[in-house]
Amino acid sequence: MIRRIGIGLGGALLALGVVLAVNTLRYAPEAVATAARVSTPTAVDGTRLAAQLAEAVRLRTVAPAERNRAEFEAFIALLERSFPRANEVMERELINGLTPLYRWQGRNPDLAPVLLTGHYDVVPAWDADPAGWEHPPFAGEIADGFVWGRGTLDDKGAILAMMAAAEGLAAEGFQPERTLYFSFGHDEETGGRMGAAAVVAHLQAQGVRLAWSLDEGSMVLRGMVPGLKQDVASINVAEKGYMTVDLVASAAGGHSSLPPRETAVGILAAGIAKLQEKPFPGGLTDVSADFFDGLGPHFGFPEKLVFANQWLFRPVLESQLGGSEGTDAMLRTTVAPTMLAGSDTENVLPQEAVATVNFRIHPRDTVESVLAYVQAVVDDPRIEIRPREGARGASTVSSAQSEAFGLLSASFRAVFGDVAVVPGLTVAATDSAHYQAVAEDSYRINPFVFEPHDLPRIHGVNERVSLENLEKAVQFYRIVMEGA
Ligand SMILES: [Zn+2]
Repeated sequence: MIRRIGIGLGGALLALGVVLAVNTLRYAPEAVATAARVSTPTAVDGTRLAAQLAEAVRLRTVAPAERNRAEFEAFIALLERSFPRANEVMERELINGLTPLYRWQGRNPDLAPVLLTGHYDVVPAWDADPAGWEHPPFAGEIADGFVWGRGTLDDKGAILAMMAAAEGLAAEGFQPERTLYFSFGHDEETGGRMGAAAVVAHLQAQGVRLAWSLDEGSMVLRGMVPGLKQDVASINVAEKGYMTVDLVASAAGGHSSLPPRETAVGILAAGIAKLQEKPFPGGLTDVSADFFDGLGPHFGFPEKLVFANQWLFRPVLESQLGGSEGTDAMLRTTVAPTMLAGSDTENVLPQEAVATVNFRIHPRDTVESVLAYVQAVVDDPRIEIRPREGARGASTVSSAQSEAFGLLSASFRAVFGDVAVVPGLTVAATDSAHYQAVAEDSYRINPFVFEPHDLPRIHGVNERVSLENLEKAVQFYRIVMEGA
C-alpha cells in the first residue's frame, strides 16, 4: 500500500516535471506587432543638440511659472531660434501664453492626428548643495559625455530631441502622413491644469480627436529588473491615480499625568498600523499581469520556469514581487502615511491627532473603492476619514495591441536593438492624465536608457543625460514621426 502510494506520487511528480518543462520550452517572447513602415535609424551627431539642451538647462523654468515667467518665455524663444526649419513648417499657438502647441499638417487629412508631448517646467534644485551636484544644476555644463543639470532627464531632453528630429525631417522636405501635434507643457510638475488640460480643452473646441499620444512616464530600463539581462522598453499604457486622506482621531484632552488608556495619538497609531498590515489586494492581473507576462519569456532559467507556469507558481511570484517596493507598486494601490500631528505641548493630551496618508491608485481600484477599503480596514468610529481635495482615479488603460504600440515597439527595436518591449504602468503622475481625454490611446516613455543609479537623479541631485541617449532619442522620434 505504502509502496503504491510512493509510485503514484513519483508518477505525479514526473508528470508535473514534464508539464513544467513543456510550458517553459513553449514560452517564447510574444511577437509584438511590427509596423510596416519603420525606417532604419539615420546617423545623428549629438554635439549640437547637447549645446542646445545645455542652454535650455540654464533657463530656470522652475515651477510654478508665475514666479519665473521670463525664464519660461526664454525657453519658448529658444525653441523658435534653435529649430528654424521645424518652426517654418509648423503652426504654433501658445496656450495660456506659456505652453507651445505646434501643429504639423499631415498629407492625409482623413487620418486622426498624433500628439508628441513633454514638459519644460522643472522642480527646484539647490545650486550650492554641498552633498550633491558635481556640476551646478542650472549651469548647463557638458562633461564626460553628459549634459548635466535640472531638467535634462525630466523633461527638457525629450522635448529638444523631438524638435531636433522634426528639424532634420523638415530640412529634408518631409511631410508627415498624419497631422502631428507637439505640446510642451509649462506646469506638469504642479498638475498640468494651465498647460496640458488647457491644450485638451483647445483641441476639443476644435473638434480634434487624437489617434494616440506619446509622453514621458518610463524609460528604456537597463539593469532595473533583477535577473534580466536585456534592456526593457516599458511602454506605459496607464498611470496610477492619486489621493490624500487625513485620518483624524478624536479623544478627550487633559493633562498627561492622568491619561486614559488610549490617547488620540494611540488610537490613530493603531489605525495606521492596521492600514500598513493589510495592503490593498493586488497581484498579477490586468495591466500588472501584462507587464510581467511580457517580461517572463526574456528571463533565463529558473525565472522563466516560474513565469511559464503561473498556474502553479503565481502565489509565490506575487509574494516575491510584493516584497520589493519597486515591483509592489506595480501590483496594487499603495499606502504611504506621510504627515503626523498631535498635541503641540509635551504634557497636554491632544483632543485630535491627524495622520496624512497618500495613496497611489491602481487602475483596478477607484477613489471610492479606496475610501471604502480604508474605512473597512481602519474600522474605528473614533477615526474620521477625510479625503483632501484633488483626488483622481487611475488613467484608462491604453491598448498594447494597437498599430501605434506596434510602431513604437518596432522603433525601439530599430534604435536600441534587442530590447524587451512590454506594456507597463507609470506609478507617478504625468500630463497624460489630461491627454487621455482627447486621445484614443496614451503611451508614456522617453527613449533614454535608464539605469538604477539614474533613479535618484530625477527630482534629485546630479540629473544628467548622455549625448548617446540624446542621439538615440532623435533617431527614435524621427522613426516614429516617419511611421505615424
Ligand atoms: Zn516629468
